[in-house]
Amino acid sequence: MVEEAISGQADSPEARRYNRIRRWLGITDFAVGFVFLLVLLATRWSDSLRDLAYRIGFQNYSFSLFIYLVLLLGISKLLGIGLEYYGFWLERRFKLTPQRFRSWLWDETKGFLVSLVLGSVVVQLFYFTIRQWPQNWWLLAWALFMVLFVLLAQLAPVVLFPIFYKFEPLEDEELRRRLVVLSEHAGTRVRGVYRWRLSEKSKKANAALTGLGRTRRIILADTLLDHYTPDEIEAVLAHELGHHVHRHILKSIFVQAGITFVGFWAANWTLHYAVDHHMFEELSDFANLPLLALVSVVLSFLLMPALNAYSRFNERQADRYAFESIASVEPFVSSMNKLAEQNLAERTPSKWVEWFFHSHPSISRRLAAAEQWGRTQNAHPQI
Ligand SMILES: [Zn+2]
Repeated sequence: MVEEAISGQADSPEARRYNRIRRWLGITDFAVGFVFLLVLLATRWSDSLRDLAYRIGFQNYSFSLFIYLVLLLGISKLLGIGLEYYGFWLERRFKLTPQRFRSWLWDETKGFLVSLVLGSVVVQLFYFTIRQWPQNWWLLAWALFMVLFVLLAQLAPVVLFPIFYKFEPLEDEELRRRLVVLSEHAGTRVRGVYRWRLSEKSKKANAALTGLGRTRRIILADTLLDHYTPDEIEAVLAHELGHHVHRHILKSIFVQAGITFVGFWAANWTLHYAVDHHMFEELSDFANLPLLALVSVVLSFLLMPALNAYSRFNERQADRYAFESIASVEPFVSSMNKLAEQNLAERTPSKWVEWFFHSHPSISRRLAAAEQWGRTQNAHPQI
């Protein structure tokens, strides 16, 4: 196999174990959520929760809907908190985070509040359209949802991320200069590069292109900036710039729009089916919310391999862009090796694991592509 010959190092038992546990944690978390929704519907506890919400909410529809959501999210948080704590404990056990318990708990609290705020907006919007336009509610709800989605993609780097992490403009003059050169090569301008203070929460390295329009920016974790050479950081920057040049965020929004269109159609069909079979009296009975959640959970589970394949395609494109933009692939290769070590990543996951779970090609594949590129460049030197 070409990949093994090139990537050389095999995965340590530690990396294998860590990733296996993480995967099972994800699967268990998913199963708990799925069963929780099923039980709520099958036992009609959802109806009891709705009645309780109406009593607390003074019989007011919108307020009671909000209370119902608080109860629903609260219970699922309680059910899932053990697993989440285990996830945190795992990071500590494998020495991948310096974070302490209190800080973790505070992040959990903030995460819960953020999901409550965002969930409330979406759910209120849903049932508002159902009550106003019972026939074609799903089309309008879909359109409004997409507006919200785009708005959130734009606001995330300035509103959402700073709730959990600190960001500051990158001040390194040498790196800024390199970025300008890379951007000129790309014939584009990136509005900013930010230092992402990840080190307080994780020892892993990371980088990303985020935002839309005026908030579009590259963020580089301090865990990367402080331990990688300027050439290696340039290779990472070039990869992120590749996402920008290929308009991956915009394309992902279109993909999302297509998927949610099908999702909303399926939600409408399911709700009508449930009402026709007397599971609920009417479409606007919000005790059917777990059914809507179930539709979205099942759909995202079924689509996960396809979405990950699409993401891997984008990553390969961004990698290729990086190879073309930097003088040699050496720093790309060494940055990948560092990344694998630092993040305790599996270089060679099994085929089906990569196919189902991975949003990025495995490190061994990325290295193989880089070396391949390096060889073809040497074979045909460009003068
Ligand atoms: Zn990428």
